[in-house]
Amino acid sequence: MTASVFAAERLLFSPVASEADAVPVIFAFPNTYTVGITSLGYQIVWATLASRADLQVSRLFTDVQESLPSQPELLGFSFSWELDYGNIFTLLERLQIPLQATARTQQHPLVFRGGAVLTANPEPYADFFDVILLGDGEVLLSEFVTAYQGVRHSSRATQLSALAQVPGIYIPSLYNVAYASADGPISAITPLAATVPPQIAKQTYRGNRLSTSAVVTAQAAWENIFLVEVVRSCPEMCRFCLASYLTLPFRPASLEESLIPAIAQGLTVTNRLGLLGASITQHPEFENLLDYLNQPQFDAVRLSLASVRTNTVTPKLVQTLVEHGTHSITIAVESGSERLRQIINKNAPQ
Ligand code: SF4
Repeated sequence: MTASVFAAERLLFSPVASEADAVPVIFAFPNTYTVGITSLGYQIVWATLASRADLQVSRLFTDVQESLPSQPELLGFSFSWELDYGNIFTLLERLQIPLQATARTQQHPLVFRGGAVLTANPEPYADFFDVILLGDGEVLLSEFVTAYQGVRHSSRATQLSALAQVPGIYIPSLYNVAYASADGPISAITPLAATVPPQIAKQTYRGNRLSTSAVVTAQAAWENIFLVEVVRSCPEMCRFCLASYLTLPFRPASLEESLIPAIAQGLTVTNRLGLLGASITQHPEFENLLDYLNQPQFDAVRLSLASVRTNTVTPKLVQTLVEHGTHSITIAVESGSERLRQIINKNAPQ
């Protein structure tokens, strides 16, 4: 893959020109461009960073990259799957940055990361990140960057201490994590200084606009798809489900203020639409959303859905999918045994 892939992108936001003394940032995805650019989370964080004049952001994937700064001050990672974890080390080595956070000095960028994997449990990754953002990026990203700007020219220790004061930011090097045994649970997490918060509150975004694609490209794994987050979290709370518990409370995007304007904008550059969310059919206005998509001007739109709960599949939903080019649907019953489903709280009426 060559850097020409960036020129082929159709952007749905306007990157701003960077100020003369903007902070040089590398924002990386530890997999190929095709995989990374398909991640709505990666797109949103990149668009947020690229919309700030006080940052100069360059993107890095395993197979292609934009022109990178020689002295980046911040290095962010986005990843959604543990299988990509190893590639983080590959990229750190390629950038000649020590793998262990404690081995980095003032000459090295602060390596940061947020997202679901680390919010669920940051400890397996804690040695390798200077800064971990716990919770929703809508709340955390701008707070993180603004706090960094305030200590940009300070020592690394001062930077980390200041960032630790920001709600939702975890600085692993400022805590001692003790385990009950070598392969046992955590027994205690202790701040190394009295000024470091003993507990960190995961941050929750409560706005009525959720995420939508910032980039549409033929190089995405789902070619030319425009993604719209319809809901966040899920009210069902099956016992095993991170998509529910990690992101509670269940939040629908506003149909009028978020979904319809976003879909109208996205469909100006593509005719492929993906509706995302842990349980999109439980959006309180899902029927109205289907009515909107069933208007004649959207006849050529190809519609894709995240998986849906069995008892929310309606004739109207199936008809809408068929008329928009989708001939399959994913449902997750989890078990053929009603007894097991009750144990795991999987409410799947027969
Ligand atoms: S219904 Fe699906 S998304 Fe909702 S909690 Fe259960 S497994 Fe998770």
